[in-house]
Formats: sequence, structure tokens, C-alpha cells
Amino acid sequence: MEQPIATKKRTREIQEKYQAQTKKSFGQNFIVEPGVVDKIAKAACGNEGASVIEIGPGIGALTQYLCEYAPEVVAYEIDPRFPPILEKEIDSDHLKVILQDFLETDVDKVLEDFEKQNKKVRFAGNLPYYITTPILFKLFEATHPVDAITVMMQKEVADRFTARPSSKEYNALSVITQYRTDIKKIMDVNRNVFWPSPNVGSSVLQFTFKNDHPIPVEQEKEFFELVKACFTQRRKTIYNNLQEYMKDKEAASAILEKAGIPLNARAQQLELSDFIRLFEVMKDED
Ligand code: SAM
Repeated sequence: MEQPIATKKRTREIQEKYQAQTKKSFGQNFIVEPGVVDKIAKAACGNEGASVIEIGPGIGALTQYLCEYAPEVVAYEIDPRFPPILEKEIDSDHLKVILQDFLETDVDKVLEDFEKQNKKVRFAGNLPYYITTPILFKLFEATHPVDAITVMMQKEVADRFTARPSSKEYNALSVITQYRTDIKKIMDVNRNVFWPSPNVGSSVLQFTFKNDHPIPVEQEKEFFELVKACFTQRRKTIYNNLQEYMKDKEAASAILEKAGIPLNARAQQLELSDFIRLFEVMKDED
């Protein structure tokens, strides 16, 4: 590989050369520590020669390493200043850069094209923090296979994804994500590793999709609605939240009793398996 882009010196040189200062509005915090990008890239690419889709390459700190470990990298960037920089600064014929808002991308269509070519796909990125959750949910909702998603995010958000019951971070997002995926923490990352340095720490998580679907796929949306409803007001009991959602006090208490969940429990005390049982009882009563 040529010189790593992920150093303070090289990042400043590139920014000066192309007059490309970072923009806060696009969540631009570049990684300036080669050891960190190397570790993310290795985890992100895996060992099976999968193609990698990168979200938000910026000036290429991570992209350069992804191109070392993956046979093909497709990078989606929203800022029109960066694709020409990537083309000039990264000398790799594995790389294709697409100037596009990733939130506007038809992920299923993209994945379908890879599937037709018998290629496995993995996602990677140091995500713009202001849209971490919408990006991940877009990927979780994809109907085509994805091997793994390895992304950097604000530590606080990562803690919510991995939270266990009875912790203050545990919420509907934790339950829904843990229903869909197995989550592995690759590492915590100090804020000094970025330029400019954000006010908060970061973590890299890897999500892989579970093969078992305890709830029929066509009912999953309804299940997620129920989980969200149970957490609507954290201080209220699950019974209170549920009766408001169902608009029926008696039905709410009946299904809780049948599912073996105390009426005075709070959603944040329940395991994923409790939510699944609650949903199944509710469907049986339909
Ligand atoms: N990957 C680079 C790195 O690690 O140094 C840059 C990471 S920076 C935190 C996030 C990048 O995502 C920026 O380049 C930003 O312009 C880009 N970005 C922000 N919103 C985006 C969107 N909706 N779609 C695609 N890229 C986006």
C-alpha cells in the first residue's frame, strides 16, 4: 500500500491540497490512526473474499485498507468533494466510488445485483453519527443476504445496541437489534483517534444476521411495533403501555397473565424471549 491516509499529517496534506475542510453537517470526523483502520478493515472484510460496501469513505482512511483486504470495494459518499480525491489518492482497481446519499440507496436492488453474481457482501464504515440508527435499520431491513456489518459509531449508541435487560441503556432498539442479529464488539476507540476530535468516545460493532426466525417473517414488523409500544413510557409498567397500545385494559392484562409476565413489570426488565412469548400469546388471541 502507498502511505496510509489515516495519519494526521497525510490527512492535513490532502485537505490542503484539495481545499477540502471537514463539514460538521455531514458528520465528518476522519480516522487518523493507521492501527485502528487496519483492525476495522480486517474485521470488516472477513476471510471469505466477500465484496465490501463502505458507507461514507470521506478522503479514504478506511477505504485504502478495505481495498487491501477485499477483492472489491464499493463506497457510497454524499459529499461531492470526495470522490475525485479518492480516485486520485487511492491507487486500486478494486475501488468504485458512488456519489450518493446512502439513505436514498435502494439496498435491496444493490444486494440483488451482487447475489446474481454469486458474490457475498459485507458492509463497513465509520458512520456519520447523526444518521447511525437510520443507516443500520435500513441494512437490518434488507431482504437479501448480508454476511456482516462492521461499523464505528458513538459509544453511547453502541451501548444501547448491546444493552442487557435492567440496564439504563436497554430499550426497544436493543431488543429489535438483538432479535435480528448477533452483535460482537470489535473495539472501543478513543476520541483522539479522529480529526477533528468529537466530544464523545466511539465503538466498533459487528452485526451478523441470525438464521432462526422465531416469528414468521411477515409478522416481524408487527412484533417490532409491539416492542416499541411496550417501551413508550419507560417509567410506566408494561401493563400501562400495553393497554394504551391495545386500547383494551382487559385484553392487555389477559395476555400478560397468559405470557407469565407480572402486570407491574417494566419493559426494560424483560428478556427478548419474554417479548417473543408475549407476541405469540397476542397472536393466539387474535
Ligand atoms: N470513512 C472516513 C474515515 O473513517 O475517516 C470518513 C468517516 S466520517 C465519520 C463520515 C463520512 O460519511 C463522511 O465522509 C461524510 O461525508 C459521509 N456521509 C455523511 N452522510 C452520508 C450519507 N447520507 N450517505 C453517504 N455518506 C455520508
